[in-house]
Amino acid sequence: MSLFADVILPIPLGTTFTYSLPQSFDNLVRVGCRLTVPFGKSKKYSGIVSRIHQEKPEGCVVKDALELLDAEPIVLPQQLKLWQWIADYYLCTMGEVYKAALPSGLKEEDEKKTYKPRTTTCVRLKDRDCTLERLEEIRMQLQRGRSAKQLQLWDVYVTMSGVKAAIRLSNPQLIVEVGKADLLDESSANATVFSALVEKGFLETYEHQVGRLPQGGIPTEMVLRPLSEHQQQAFVQIQQSWLKYDVCLLHGVTSSGKTEVYIHLINEVIKSGKQVLYLLPEIVLTTQLVDRLKRVFGNRLGVYHSKYSDAERVEVWQKQLSDEPYDIIVGVRSSVFLPYKNLGLVIVDEEHENSFKQQDPAPRYHARNAALVLARMMNAKTLLGTATPSMDTYYNYKMGKYALVQLTERYQQVLLPDIEVVNIAEERRKKMINGPFTSVLLRKMQEALQQGEQVILFQNRRGYAPTVECHDCGWVPRCPNCDVSLTNHRGQGLMTCHYCGYHSPIPQQCPACNGRDLLSQGYGTERVEDYIQAIFPEAKVARMDLDTTRSRTAYEKIISDFQKGSTQILVGTQMVTKGLDFGNVSVVGILDADTMLNQPDFRSYEHAFQMMSQVAGRAGRRNKQGAVVLQTKVPDLPVIGQVVRNDYASLYQETIEERTAFHYPPICRLIYVYMKHRHEDVVHRLSVDYATLMRKIFGDRVLGPETPPVGRVQLLYIRKIVLKVELNASLPEVRSRLRQISDYFQSLGDYKSATIYYDVDPL
Ligand code: ADP
Ligand code: ZN
Ligand code: ZN
Repeated sequence: MSLFADVILPIPLGTTFTYSLPQSFDNLVRVGCRLTVPFGKSKKYSGIVSRIHQEKPEGCVVKDALELLDAEPIVLPQQLKLWQWIADYYLCTMGEVYKAALPSGLKEEDEKKTYKPRTTTCVRLKDRDCTLERLEEIRMQLQRGRSAKQLQLWDVYVTMSGVKAAIRLSNPQLIVEVGKADLLDESSANATVFSALVEKGFLETYEHQVGRLPQGGIPTEMVLRPLSEHQQQAFVQIQQSWLKYDVCLLHGVTSSGKTEVYIHLINEVIKSGKQVLYLLPEIVLTTQLVDRLKRVFGNRLGVYHSKYSDAERVEVWQKQLSDEPYDIIVGVRSSVFLPYKNLGLVIVDEEHENSFKQQDPAPRYHARNAALVLARMMNAKTLLGTATPSMDTYYNYKMGKYALVQLTERYQQVLLPDIEVVNIAEERRKKMINGPFTSVLLRKMQEALQQGEQVILFQNRRGYAPTVECHDCGWVPRCPNCDVSLTNHRGQGLMTCHYCGYHSPIPQQCPACNGRDLLSQGYGTERVEDYIQAIFPEAKVARMDLDTTRSRTAYEKIISDFQKGSTQILVGTQMVTKGLDFGNVSVVGILDADTMLNQPDFRSYEHAFQMMSQVAGRAGRRNKQGAVVLQTKVPDLPVIGQVVRNDYASLYQETIEERTAFHYPPICRLIYVYMKHRHEDVVHRLSVDYATLMRKIFGDRVLGPETPPVGRVQLLYIRKIVLKVELNASLPEVRSRLRQISDYFQSLGDYKSATIYYDVDPL
């Protein structure tokens, strides 16, 4: 009876593909192993076996699989179940999930890129059953040969390897591994001398694998720091909540010690022999947190991060498959795809963070939600932690799906910062503005610097200035590929598109009217930095944004310099708002609240509240209340007051009322349909036809088509259709209809060249 395997291939087509298994390896293949298979006329892919069966597919030629790459599965059945859930829920293919799930070293069809363990060349005796007599014989022979160099090399090897003692005690384990390079070094011999001994059949070389993973070190703290009374209460409440609920929300103000509570919970779980996944948002490079956890858990902790090399990620993956997996994985969203054998707890830190949602490419999945599903599949508990819960999560608590535990005080009763709102418009009228700074903020910064304290400034725009404008004719440089203006990056002398990366030199004069008066409009982080240098020439400033943190080391240096106090002012984009813990920051400036509030998005207040509260939370020290200056033109907007009073309850109340009235999440679900094409008329016709067909099925739950705020990116025109689905609607039904519609349109000749995709639960 011949056997067939369904294989998941890294392509955005269909579901799985069936191949016949050659008898040479058909009984070795298991679900979760990789096979290389032919595809199309001449392509070759490696894919994952998802099913083995005896059902010969009808009506098509079934090709033979070419090669079996694994003796043991590299993907576990539970993982495949999660992949399937993601493909179903987020309306994408298993192939797309596969591409996101595996580090490239485990899936690349290109030989050169595949993961190769790092090896060193080592030396051993050719004769495996060598006796002491034989050793002596070899030595005599070398002496007779009159090559002093060869003899010396031999003697050094015998000494370094300890081979004599090993033979004497009949214990080959006692032989010390000798690296070829070390041996040559130690004996001052060259490669020719060494080759001679190999040719004579005395020595041979072999490759020894060395891991790239840091050895982690032994935990130095061992004992956990005792919890405060409030923390201890939360710790107990969380554990009790898990008797009734699978998910608990820990709503704790900034610096209340949530991390400390996590550490105690992790300790309990690993004591019981289970594993923990500690999920973090992408933006924060994990340095500070990892250091803190390593001190407690040492080499029981593994880190899985997109800024780590692919080889390191492959090794973490393989370690998790081994008999000695890490007990704790700290990682960003892709760590939900790691193999877990015995998961007991998932912690999602900063659960409100948008970077948990992958935007592009597919799968456009939300890692917090995928982690909740993973935990449910593995009977693990979940803890969602944050100072500013997402509306979605808080709504789930209100609906009785999640438990809630609160921490309302900072550790050691440090006060929450005092937030002062300053009206930019009024200060401007009184001519009290200096660049991006109001007089109030400047005074506070000055005081802080005088007292040796530090300052964090938050400006959510990178570059020098968001736009350049000709003073004479109003000309503004725009991207030729996208529907946006170019951002001025003066340090690089370039104007850059933040959507496609297009850049060109900053012109000396206006190309439209030849005017020489080109003005920078608005403030990016780079320009803020310039102003600080001019106003406080003595202060050392560091800037933290996408441009200064391309590498892991650059980021880590900025953080550690600030921590050590070698820099006094840290200016940055939303990167500075996230989970950093500094002891000496007394002033935080929010330079421009309005750009956040004016985003054309129904979540803009929710996000603005989160970002402002988070960055405000960086202020304050043991013995002194921190100060925050919040600059805005709309000081009376309710959300400003809610930030000032740290009034999450009223933010939630107002937001839910609004979302109920206008029918937005979390009261319903959203699915966006995106269409892209090089020709505007094609994408326009497609979107109108698409919406018409959708309305036939979903009625007035369909809105649009509309052109998004940036209507063209990378030469492609974009249209968007919105589908609102009631919470109690049957999702599988909705999804299968949507798949039918996109299949239908993609099969039409006219629209074949268009890109169509869905974004489920968009952010
Ligand atoms: P959160 O995660 O809620 O923002 P952290 O866990 O980072 O708060 O705690 C804030 C600061 O207080 C950290 O510097 C931390 O080391 C300290 N801290 C919190 N709880 C304790 C504790 N129980 N013992 C010692 N230090 C603590
Ligand atoms: Zn001009
Ligand atoms: Zn562009």
